[in-house]
Amino acid sequence: MKTLKPKIVIIGAGNVGSTFAFSLMISGLAREIVLVDKNELLAKGESMDLNHGLSFAHPTKIYAAGFEGCKDADIVVITAGAKQKPGESRIDLVQKNVALFRDIVPAIIKYSGNAILLVVTNPVDILTYVTLKISGLPSNRVLGSGTVLDTARLRYMLSEYYKVDPNNIHAYIIGEHGDTELPVWSNATIGGIEIVKYCSGYVHPHISKDELSVIFEKVKNAAYQIIEAKGATNYSIGLSLVKITRAIIRNENSILPVSTLITDYYGINDICISIPSRINSNGVDLYLKLDLSEQEQKLLKYSASTLKKVIKTIDL
Ligand code: NAD
Repeated sequence: MKTLKPKIVIIGAGNVGSTFAFSLMISGLAREIVLVDKNELLAKGESMDLNHGLSFAHPTKIYAAGFEGCKDADIVVITAGAKQKPGESRIDLVQKNVALFRDIVPAIIKYSGNAILLVVTNPVDILTYVTLKISGLPSNRVLGSGTVLDTARLRYMLSEYYKVDPNNIHAYIIGEHGDTELPVWSNATIGGIEIVKYCSGYVHPHISKDELSVIFEKVKNAAYQIIEAKGATNYSIGLSLVKITRAIIRNENSILPVSTLITDYYGINDICISIPSRINSNGVDLYLKLDLSEQEQKLLKYSASTLKKVIKTIDL
């Protein structure tokens, strides 16, 4: 990171890209925010609208550009591409979005070989892997938003159930950002107490594992429900992206479950998948070796094998 206030380029100015731009502008983290979209008019309109709110936010240069706008970018966030239609899974988007990334990634690298690339487009784990391979960048500099959003959903839903501030809940969703993701209950704590013990001690005396499963199912299906209701998800992902970029820009060493290339992880190799990782100005500085229960190991391996099968269908 060359400057304290970086240049951030957002590829794709649709629901996710524009909401992220808005949240980023409010955060005051960026010196420049550039919007790149094949729909140039959309990118222009969004940048005009954002600029008109600047007197209520922080001094930031915001503009629409082509891929040349990636020049000297510190972070490029990729949100371009097809999104799920009601009932469609994230994996269903793979062919369309891989084809798109074959154009987008070289266009970014042409202007900005030094940036950290943050992938958001779905299926995010597959596209993070594709971006890594096409860009040729070191793995610490290519990451996917992964299960950061799912983990935020889990913490919110647990906070409602357990009647506690989500900031005091340490619980992660890992694996695919999608249908095979899994919660790591074996490591989940509230205020340092094992989650089930917290519940039986302070909330309901008779907590059962089934109640946790019900909460997890709601987390896993949340995107389907929101897409059914309003066609896209944007606010919570926008804020998740601010959290990830802030951790990079401010060298925060935050632990976030981003999608990253893993090697020899419970026997899993050469795949991008979400594992709690330390995020700082290097990008993904390291990922944590979690002490998973046998059941969790089995589920993580299944999630990885599902992604691996999809990757095998892609000519990289
Ligand atoms: P959207 O349709 O509103 O926006 C996508 C934008 O990409 C459009 O404006 C389109 O013009 C643009 N685009 C397409 N091809 C392009 C190209 N070659 N160059 C530049 N721009 C191009 O969709 P959205 O709701 O913003 O979702 C975007 C993606 O983010 C989807 O794949 C969606 O599934 C994904 N998403 C991921 C998460 C996550 O947690 N990882 C959360 C929400 C959405």
